[in-house]
Amino acid sequence: MRKAEDTVEHYQSLYIGGTWRPAESGRTHPVINPYTEQVITNIPAAEAADIDQAVAAATEALPSWRQTAVGTRIELLRRIAEILAERTDTIAEIVSADLGVPLAEAKSTQVGYPLRTLAGFISAAATVPWQERVGTSVVVQEPIGVVGAITPWNHPLQQAIAKVGAALVAGCTVVLKPSEFASLGVFELTEAIHRAGVPAGVFNLLTGPGSVAGSALVEHDQVSMVSFTGSTTVGRRIATAAAATLKPVSLELGGKSPSVVLDDADLETAVTATAARCFGNSGQTCAALTRLLVPRARLGEAEEYAKAAADKLVLGDPMDARTTTGPLVSASQQARVRAFIESGSAEGARLITGGLGAPIPDRGFFVAPTVFSDVTSEMTIARNEIFGPVLSILPYDSETEAMRIANDTPYGLNAAVWSASAERAAAFASHIESGLVGINGGRVNLNAPFGGYKQSGFGREFGAAGIHEFLHTKCVNFTIPDGYWPPA
Ligand code: NAD
Repeated sequence: MRKAEDTVEHYQSLYIGGTWRPAESGRTHPVINPYTEQVITNIPAAEAADIDQAVAAATEALPSWRQTAVGTRIELLRRIAEILAERTDTIAEIVSADLGVPLAEAKSTQVGYPLRTLAGFISAAATVPWQERVGTSVVVQEPIGVVGAITPWNHPLQQAIAKVGAALVAGCTVVLKPSEFASLGVFELTEAIHRAGVPAGVFNLLTGPGSVAGSALVEHDQVSMVSFTGSTTVGRRIATAAAATLKPVSLELGGKSPSVVLDDADLETAVTATAARCFGNSGQTCAALTRLLVPRARLGEAEEYAKAAADKLVLGDPMDARTTTGPLVSASQQARVRAFIESGSAEGARLITGGLGAPIPDRGFFVAPTVFSDVTSEMTIARNEIFGPVLSILPYDSETEAMRIANDTPYGLNAAVWSASAERAAAFASHIESGLVGINGGRVNLNAPFGGYKQSGFGREFGAAGIHEFLHTKCVNFTIPDGYWPPA
């Protein structure tokens, strides 16, 4: 078993055609620990020449990779999962250092979720109808080709695996461009892919700022599809750029998810769980429940429960076991979230706890967990994805109004509904415009389709649906019912 330091050696390198090597230009990008504010290392800043080489390697590897048996690809995925699992503690430390997430949370969400997602692909691959007979036709699922995968920093390994695991098992080759922030965990994935014995060129890693490396990948005419997770703003740019070569795009974008507490719900449970799903990962989660809708008659109680949930969080060193809430990923993210908090107060929202005056550690890019009440749908904090630890409470007077507020957002990723009757909650949920909805605390299922409505994007990840994103359907039509497929 190799040691953690072995992967550190590769932080200055791109992985192209099965080999680690620096960017052609020699340019790098600093990775900063958001708690110590010190540079951890410098990663290569890939540019067009590197992208060309990575895409060429992926293109060359495609013909033989797409012919491998699905069982072989599943076995390789299993091996990758084993290697990652063996290194859980090391990877959690790495992600904790470059993202700022507390170590215990890193183990469960930043390593545990990716492993469960990989396990989901392994079992789902066996259920894909790779070949089906429809009358005199054979309907075949074929890999889409070379995939350009672009991912964000907030769940670095999870977002990479959601694309890479599914694309590889589908028979595609991949060029991955993770975020320029918090991408060190992705080097671990790359090393695991290498050690598992995935053939050279099947997977390639390019790091560096998105405006250069990301856009060159999207525009490349040898890239057959782009799978993107990130902000709605960049998603829109990617869809526009991909239109030039008419390549399919899958977009997993932002959210502003409502948590609707119906009048018969257990208010304390609902508010406490909503706050936990708002403040986890310091609020840097696309599916975070950031708008809490409560009956106006119970607003005061809801504020108390939300305040209690926020105030018990412990900000500090992510490596300290007592810490529940780490810093935000970067100084610019901290400034952005602080500006949203200012706008909340300026537009008349009532600060319940937290805010810019609340104590925070003297170093690190922290924002205190913040709760606003009397928030209305028109306010900036209700309309925009803040991506920080800020919960908005919006009172409602009737169920009809609650529904209107819940859907009054350009986003549609996640939602929650709480009621004493799961049936009543499910009936309400059927009118919510979002790709996911949790009933009475139901959590995201890493084997079931994940994705958004409206400006939260299109396409689905995880499980069989995630694999399907990387497949083309071919219909082979015969004149006789028993056809000749596959060809001899
Ligand atoms: P971002 O959009 O700034 O960046 C995402 C990726 O795109 C990065 O790798 C970046 O380098 C790259 N990029 C930037 N400009 C580009 C361009 N012009 N062309 C190609 N690539 C480009 O997002 P972020 O700040 O890294 O992540 C936070 C966002 O991601 C939030 O909006 C969050 O909601 C979203 N997100 C969505 C999901 C989901 O599944 N729906 C999951 C996690 C995060």
